[in-house]
Amino acid sequence: MSDEGGGVLIPGNQSDEIARLKAENLGLKQRERETFSYIRNKVDQLLEVMGTLPLKQGELDDKSLLETDPIGTVADSFRLILGHLHKTNDKLRLANSEIGAILDTAGAGILVVDREARVTTLNDKATELFSIRRDAAVGRPCHQAICCAGAPPKGCVLQMVLQDKNDECRNEWVWNDRHFEVVGRPLRNGIGDISHVVIVYAEITERIRYEEQLRQALANAREARDQVNGILHSVADGLLVTDLEQRIILTNPQARRLFGKAGKLEGRSLTEVIGDVGLRRAIQETVTSGEPTRADFTSPLFENSIFEGRISLLRGVEGDPAGLVLIMHDVTQERAVERMKTEFVATAAHEFRTPLTTILGFSELMLDNGELPEEDRREFLQLIHEKAGALSRIVNNLLDISRIESGEELPIDPHDCSLQSILDLVVPSYVKQNTIHDFVLSLPEEPIHVCVDLDSVVEVFENILSNAAKYSPDGGEISISCRQDKQFCSISISDQGLGMPQDDLERVFDKFYRANNANTAIRGTGLGLTIVRYIVEAHGGRIWLDSREEKGTTVYFTLPLAAADHPEDGDRFVGDG
Ligand code: ATP
Ligand code: MG
Repeated sequence: MSDEGGGVLIPGNQSDEIARLKAENLGLKQRERETFSYIRNKVDQLLEVMGTLPLKQGELDDKSLLETDPIGTVADSFRLILGHLHKTNDKLRLANSEIGAILDTAGAGILVVDREARVTTLNDKATELFSIRRDAAVGRPCHQAICCAGAPPKGCVLQMVLQDKNDECRNEWVWNDRHFEVVGRPLRNGIGDISHVVIVYAEITERIRYEEQLRQALANAREARDQVNGILHSVADGLLVTDLEQRIILTNPQARRLFGKAGKLEGRSLTEVIGDVGLRRAIQETVTSGEPTRADFTSPLFENSIFEGRISLLRGVEGDPAGLVLIMHDVTQERAVERMKTEFVATAAHEFRTPLTTILGFSELMLDNGELPEEDRREFLQLIHEKAGALSRIVNNLLDISRIESGEELPIDPHDCSLQSILDLVVPSYVKQNTIHDFVLSLPEEPIHVCVDLDSVVEVFENILSNAAKYSPDGGEISISCRQDKQFCSISISDQGLGMPQDDLERVFDKFYRANNANTAIRGTGLGLTIVRYIVEAHGGRIWLDSREEKGTTVYFTLPLAAADHPEDGDRFVGDG
C-alpha cells in the first residue's frame, strides 16, 4: 500500500505501531549511548586509578569498545597489580619484622621521633637504658620521656639534625653520671623533607672509665719512667742494660761516659763495647750460670780509675731471663784503702817486730846474765825503754785512729802553757837521737803562751819531727820556727829531706796513706799525720804542707794562743784562715 505521492499508504494502526517502534528504537539507542558513555567513564576512571591516561576522544569506537573489552583488560591489570601488591606486602612485612628484630637485638638504644620530637617508636635496649616503658614513651616529647627535662638539653642531636639538616649529627651526653654517644640521622619523606629522626644511644660509661684508667695508667707509667730516668741520671754509678741477645737497650750518662767515646751505645752488642777481658769473662759467667758476678776493670777514658762491674740477670715480670744488667761503680778509693790496709798490716807487723826483737833480746840477755856490769845494764834497760816507747807510740796511734774512726772525740783538755815548755819536752830527745841532723829553733824573744792539751800537742810535735828526721835519711837541717799571729801561734817545721810529689800533699793526711817516697826502706804506718791533723783541728787550728821532691818539706800548723796573749779577742778557737 502507498499514498498519493507514490509512497506506500500505511494504515493508521500500523503507523502508530511504527511510531512506537521508532520511539522505542530511539530510546534504545539513547540507552545504548548512555551505556557506552558509562563504560567509557568507568574505563577512564580505572585507567586513572592505574595512573594511565584516559581514552582519547574517538580512540575507540563503540564497536571496538565492545570487542576489546577494556574493563576486562583493566580487571586483568588489576589482578596483576594485586598480585604484585601481595608480594610487596609480604616483603614489607618481612622487612618490618627484620627491622623490629634488629631494633630489639641492637646493643644500642634506638629511638624514632617525629619533627615535633614526639617518640614514635623505641627499641628494647632504649627502654632498658632509660628505665622507661614503651607505652609511657611513645607519643611523648623525647626530652620528657628520655632526658626527663622540660626542654631539649644543650647539644641535643635531634635539634642539631633538624637545624643543620645534616645526614648525621653526633654528640656525647652525660645523663645520671652515665656517658652516651648519641647519633642522630634524619628520615626523609618522598620529597626529601625530614619527617622523622632516628636517635641512637650507645652507652660509653665503661669505655670512658677505661679511658680514664688508661690515661691514669699512662700518666703513672710516664711518671714512673721519669722517676727511673731521674734515678738513672742522678746515680753516680754507670748502668747498662741489655736484651737477651746482649744488645744494649738502656744506658745512663755515667755508663756513656765510661764507654761512649765511640758514639751511641744503644743497639750495639755488649762485647763490642766492653774491651776488658776480665769483665767480659764475668759477663759470660753470669750468662752461663745465671748467678750475679763482679769484676774490676779499667776504662781507657779514665786512666787512673778502677771500676767494679756487677753483672746480674735482668728478669722479666714472670721471672724469666730478659737480658743483663751491668752496674759500674768507681772503686778507686776503696781499692786504694784496701791496698793501704794490706800494706799497713804488713808494715805494722814489721813495726812491732823490730822493737819487740830488741826488747826480747836485751831482756833475755839481762835474765841470763844476772852479773852484768851496771853500765851495760843501764844501756840495755835504756834500749828496752826506748823500744817499748816506740811500741807504745804505735799502739797509741792505732787507738787514736780507732777512736776517730768510731766518731769518738779525742780527749782534749786545753791548759795555758808556754810553747818553749812543749819544745823542751820534745826536741832534746830528738837532738840526742839524730846525730846526722842539725836542729835549729827560731822563736821570738817574747815567750809565746798557747792554750792546748799538752799530751796531744807533744804527740803533734813528735810525729812531725819524727817524719822530718825519717824522711831526711841523708841528714840536713831541721828548723822549727814560731810566730804569734792574732789569736793563733803559727809553727813551721822544715827539713831538707826527700820531699814528696805535689799530688801527695793533701793525701798524706788520709789514714794509711804513704807517699811515693815511702817506697824506700823508711818504715811507717801512714797514721802519724792523720792523727796530727785531727789533734790540730780539734784545737781549732789548721795544718798544711809544702814540699819539693829532693829539696825538703815544711809542715805548717797553728795552735790557739792563751787568752792573755790576745787580750783584744776572746775567741781563741777561730781559725786564722
Ligand atoms: P807513721 O807516722 O804512722 O809511723 P808514716 O810516717 O809513713 O807512718 P805519716 O806520718 O802519716 O805516716 O806520713 C804520711 C806519709 O807522708 C809518709 O809515709 C811520707 O810518705 C810522707 N811524709 C810525711 N812527712 C814527710 C816529710 N817530712 N818528708 C817527706 N815525706 C813525708
Ligand atoms: Mg810519720
